[in-house]
Amino acid sequence: MLRPREAVLTLKEYHPPLGGRVGLRMDFNENTAGCSPRVLQKLREIGPDLLAKYPEREPVEAIVAEFLGINATQLLLTNGVDEAIHLLCQAFVEAGEEVLIAVPTFSMYEVYASAAGARVVTVQADDDFAFPLERLLQAITARTKLIAIANPNNPTGTAVKPATLLRIAEAAPHAAVLVDEAYFEFHGQSFLPQMQTYENVFIARTFSKAYGLAGLRVGVLAGAPEPMRMVRCVSSPYNVNAIALAALPEALGDREYVVNYVQQVQQGRERLQCELRDLGVQYWPSEANFVLARFGVLRKAFVAAMRERGVLVRDRNSDPGCEGCVRITAGTVEQMELVIAAVRSSLEVARKQGAGEMIMAVQQ
Ligand code: PMP
Repeated sequence: MLRPREAVLTLKEYHPPLGGRVGLRMDFNENTAGCSPRVLQKLREIGPDLLAKYPEREPVEAIVAEFLGINATQLLLTNGVDEAIHLLCQAFVEAGEEVLIAVPTFSMYEVYASAAGARVVTVQADDDFAFPLERLLQAITARTKLIAIANPNNPTGTAVKPATLLRIAEAAPHAAVLVDEAYFEFHGQSFLPQMQTYENVFIARTFSKAYGLAGLRVGVLAGAPEPMRMVRCVSSPYNVNAIALAALPEALGDREYVVNYVQQVQQGRERLQCELRDLGVQYWPSEANFVLARFGVLRKAFVAAMRERGVLVRDRNSDPGCEGCVRITAGTVEQMELVIAAVRSSLEVARKQGAGEMIMAVQQ
């Protein structure tokens, strides 16, 4: 009988709720305005030759390396950050070894670590979602082979200082330390300069968020040349497709587009946070393109009311420490006006519904 590996048998399936996403997409932290027009123009020019040939990563890697101010030996283009995480697990983690994460955080760290047969060690963030640095340092053992930190973090939007990351990198020289900067553009601070001095530090970036190319699947993994050579050994030579490779230089070339979009998101994010404060909803100040807010027992009714108003938001209730929480992506200023109006009326509806249910419960 065909039998999968033990680690695969016990794996939880991960199905992001992608079905029926009609309306304002404030549920997946994507770009909500679309990519640069230069990318679309390039896609229109694609001919059969490009599709017939195997894709060549290196010329585009040289462009990305220059953009990041690093050497091409220090990076690999990947099929999104998702693949970068997968490759790090493949290159550095043996079955039975440990992968350390602070939760709540991005779920794919756990998925790929578990698939590699690793033991996933989680450290719960503090109540205010502050990074649990001391407890994380204490959880490092000789068997820790990967420590993954999203900075800014998803779903909380909180960020840590370079000094925190330095302490982790120095405390675990035998482990790969992944600083996942998927939301870098909305935060503006990178650990990339410090990465250069550490053999064990990796930085991930994506074109799925600020650049609006989630559907193309392109990310970057950067690290020291020798560990990156190991990562390249476990990757497919054609992991990033020709269309994505053709689009990337155009996306990088249109600085104005990204700068403008990021500014709009930052403005929209502040507006949303102000509104939540006025409405008496607890939220966590965000450094990313989304805001996590706690609606408590009203969460389900709130999410449903938002959907009725054509705004999709993400229920994060089952993330550790996120009971009653909903994550709302920030988009353009114009979109955020609609989102905020929907938040206001949805909360009113949810509160009325909640009060009605309480009265019924008392009467019964
Ligand atoms: N890292 C984090 C922290 C994320 O939130 C996400 C997307 N939700 C990713 C990585 C995945 O990025 P990509 O689309 O490049 O695979």
